[in-house]
Amino acid sequence: MSDAPALIDAFGRHITYVRISVTDRCDLRCRYCMAEEMTFLPRNQVMSLEEIAAISDAFIDRGVRRIRLTGGEPLVRRGVPELARMIGVRLGDGLDELTLTTNGTRLADHAKALRDAGVRRINVSLDSLDPDRFRHITRVGDLAKVLGGIAAASAAGIAIKINMVALKGLNEDEIEPMLRWCAAEGHDLTLIETMPLGSIDEDRVDRFLPLDGVKAHLSERHELVPLIERTGGPARYFRVGALGVKLGLITPLSENFCASCNRVRLTVSGELFLCLGSERKVDLRAAWREGGRAGIDAALDRALATKPLAHDFHISRRGAAPAVGRHMSVTGG
Ligand code: SAM
Ligand code: SF4
Repeated sequence: MSDAPALIDAFGRHITYVRISVTDRCDLRCRYCMAEEMTFLPRNQVMSLEEIAAISDAFIDRGVRRIRLTGGEPLVRRGVPELARMIGVRLGDGLDELTLTTNGTRLADHAKALRDAGVRRINVSLDSLDPDRFRHITRVGDLAKVLGGIAAASAAGIAIKINMVALKGLNEDEIEPMLRWCAAEGHDLTLIETMPLGSIDEDRVDRFLPLDGVKAHLSERHELVPLIERTGGPARYFRVGALGVKLGLITPLSENFCASCNRVRLTVSGELFLCLGSERKVDLRAAWREGGRAGIDAALDRALATKPLAHDFHISRRGAAPAVGRHMSVTGG
């Protein structure tokens, strides 16, 4: 542990959570996330795993207690379980939790190594339980592989939360079946509203499904008991009556919780974004290469002063450019 000062922004918010995108690449092409043809970063702009581990260490010394590895698809990058092991040595030594968000396609191969690295909970994205529909939404995905990955992670002793993006006309009729499947399998479920991040081939307005309507619909058939637990993010949690599932609703558009935001995001090229919905950033890789730990500390102090009070998303303008140019896969979901 170090006695370096905690990360507190201009609005008094304490930064304790970092999401790190370990690659912008992915083996799927989910329609709401990516275009079919994507240009990814050249490899010389990608931080090494050692650089990511060093920057993670600096964050932990400044009071960060939770780190989530994400992407793109984190498990398409070679060595990510090894990176988890490098960061995981700080569990119990400043770090409370190391987690991962994955599409699950390669989870069967890596579940045990992740568990050995200290990962106890992961989020797996799963927007449909129907193989054809799953393939349609992801353009190329094989549902059986993902279900196999989820089973392997459960067997390794990793708790699973399913992330499902609610898509009007695409999977809204599967929300109830997904809830029941999660109840049967012992997983939590979080529903996410589509966010206007990065250009895709379709218009997101057509697919936007406000979750307040979904919640009203679900509460006609289930008792939804609000949980007081908050993570500092835009999710609200409920316990679903007899099913016992913990249900999260992420509603960055219809409701925002920016006032309690405790997180920042690091891209694989080392840019630190203070808000998913803002273009403001600081180059931590350059700071590390030029000034080592002192360089990172100075850059973090500069960055904190610029964290905005709230994001500026809107999805109402049909055909308009996305609110933020970068894809979620770049900033890390
Ligand atoms: N590839 C991994 C996965 O799919 O879980 C990790 C990265 S992905 C960008 C993280 C999460 O962001 C996923 O749950 C995905 O469904 C969600 N996501 C991607 N683009 C989104 C968008 N435009 N709006 C809302 N959620 C999005
Ligand atoms: Fe890949 Fe995840 Fe984006 Fe789907 S949501 S295209 S799995 S990064």
